Amino acid sequence: MALLSGKEVAEALKEQLKKEVEALKAKGTNPTLGIIRMGEEPGDLAYEKGAKKSAEEVGIGVNVFTLPREASQDELIKVIQKVNGDKSVHGVLLFQPLPKQIDAFKARAALDPSKDMDGITDGSMAGIYSDSGKGFPPCTAESVIKILKHFKVELSGKNVVVLGRSTVIGKPVSMLLLKENATVTVCHSKTKDLPKKTQEADVVVVAMGRAWSVGKESFRAGQYVIDVGVNAKPNGEKGTCGDVRTEEVEPVVAGITPVPGGVGSVTNTNLLCHVVEAAKKG
Ligand code: NAP
Repeated sequence: MALLSGKEVAEALKEQLKKEVEALKAKGTNPTLGIIRMGEEPGDLAYEKGAKKSAEEVGIGVNVFTLPREASQDELIKVIQKVNGDKSVHGVLLFQPLPKQIDAFKARAALDPSKDMDGITDGSMAGIYSDSGKGFPPCTAESVIKILKHFKVELSGKNVVVLGRSTVIGKPVSMLLLKENATVTVCHSKTKDLPKKTQEADVVVVAMGRAWSVGKESFRAGQYVIDVGVNAKPNGEKGTCGDVRTEEVEPVVAGITPVPGGVGSVTNTNLLCHVVEAAKKG
């Protein structure tokens, strides 16, 4: 079990989702994701296509609310407020980055945290830090926990090192790991002697956005490694790669997520888990 397949985790989550969606529909609720998209950025369109396909597989509806890329701040806020008040839409994904005429902070603040499916609002962040159960964590950060749980990797009382402290991944994943009773060390670009820190961990979560920058010198036998990085390959080849040099690390450790096919494969499905949770809350 050296490679921890994200696809396997996503399939298991989808099976569970199908049952939950069926039960909700039997009670008259059709779980629905709203997507707010400005313009037709290729990355947004690709994500939207993937989300629609996965949603269809499990029976979740998708409503896309579009604005021209050049739309104003007021026009975007109006759409966000409309979706906030639309009871048929249970959760919302606002595509980012937003165009430069938009104040992203104000746009995020306009979104109702209870409908914020990817933990982008301050309300969702507060929910993670206060354990209040309000809002949802960022999908990718929570996918890390779901992968570890799926492969029955013990977290309680274990030492976990997180490489990266961004608000999207490093910080929220650290809080989620604490909630699982792990002892968490958060490292960043100013941390000294990273290999020594990672060697001491039972689990290492790597989220630096530095292609193939971490090799076997950073790991030892028995560890689990979750590679969150998604980067262009530095050698000019097509496709994406992680932060970890998987080929040389896989034979050393107990388990590692591949890139692609690891965390990224779960993120999309986890978004749908949030929609179903939001629909259950009503
Ligand atoms: P980010 O905002 O750029 O943050 C990177 C973090 O890594 C920062 O905290 C930075 O430290 C730290 N870091 C950078 N170089 C370092 C080094 N040499 N040693 C130690 N720490 C270092 O990136 P992000 O948004 O968190 O994303 C991280 C990666 O995850 C990217 O590859 C991104 O594409 C990927 N990602 C994947 C998914 C998915 O679904 N799998 C989703 C989102 C993002 P400082 O704070 O000191 O600068």
